[in-house]
Amino acid sequence: DPMIRLRNVRKVYRTGGHEFVAVSDVTMDIAEGDMVSLVGPSGCGKSTLLRILAGLHDADDGEVRIGTSASTFTPGRDVGMVFQQALLLKWRTILENVILPAEILGLPNREAKERARDLLNMVGLQGFENKYPYELSGGMQQRASIARALVHDPKLILMDEPFGALDALTREKMNLEMLRIWQRSSKTIIFVTHSIQEAVFLGSRCAVLTAGPARMADYFDIVLPLP
Ligand code: ADP
Ligand code: ADP
Repeated sequence: DPMIRLRNVRKVYRTGGHEFVAVSDVTMDIAEGDMVSLVGPSGCGKSTLLRILAGLHDADDGEVRIGTSASTFTPGRDVGMVFQQALLLKWRTILENVILPAEILGLPNREAKERARDLLNMVGLQGFENKYPYELSGGMQQRASIARALVHDPKLILMDEPFGALDALTREKMNLEMLRIWQRSSKTIIFVTHSIQEAVFLGSRCAVLTAGPARMADYFDIVLPLP
């Protein structure tokens, strides 16, 4: 049973009498524990596809099934999201930002705090729990937003150009860190990137969308070349 099953998924935006086909015929399966990189030109429907997977949009046509027969899947509870911007609340400390999803879901406060602290350690932010976002660099804020996406222990992590706003050096460091995080958390992760290098380095599989309206062009396993 794949974790995610998409069949001929279509999404049309309707604004002011106009119809715009953003995703037209996307078919793919994603296994539990896969780290899939999603690449394709700007405007080809990558963010739209992520929003469908997050339950923020309904597909207009096709089949979207998430979760295996062994477990139910509730988008609000089982999805963690990371965006290009960290989007931390500036009046909350780093710890208070990271526990936010757990708070919204009404998870026990003490456990959430403990988990948030563990995650902050994992992303290398121990000692920054009580700082405010403006006291951290862009890369550190982004690492906090990754911890926030994991705090409620979601089954699926969706990342929309998570490192796109970072400088090249920070981005390389984050790639290494992300690989470590992924290996430790064994989550199913889908991330959008404009960097082929990043797609190949981080992804275990790579999905390629073609330009508008998006269709699945190819979907392949990444086999790392021998050193
Ligand atoms: P990508 O993430 O690959 O850049 P998007 O999924 O953001 O692509 O957008 C796909 C297409 O749909 C783009 O042409 C975009 O302009 C259009 N689009 C995205 N969101 C909306 C919306 N809310 N209303 C109308 N058109 C939209
Ligand atoms: P990205 O390329 O990072 O996906 P965009 O600049 O395409 O971001 O879109 C940013 C936001 O604007 C998205 O939330 C999208 O839904 C919305 N959007 C994009 N294109 C349109 C559009 N043509 N009409 C209305 N909303 C749009």
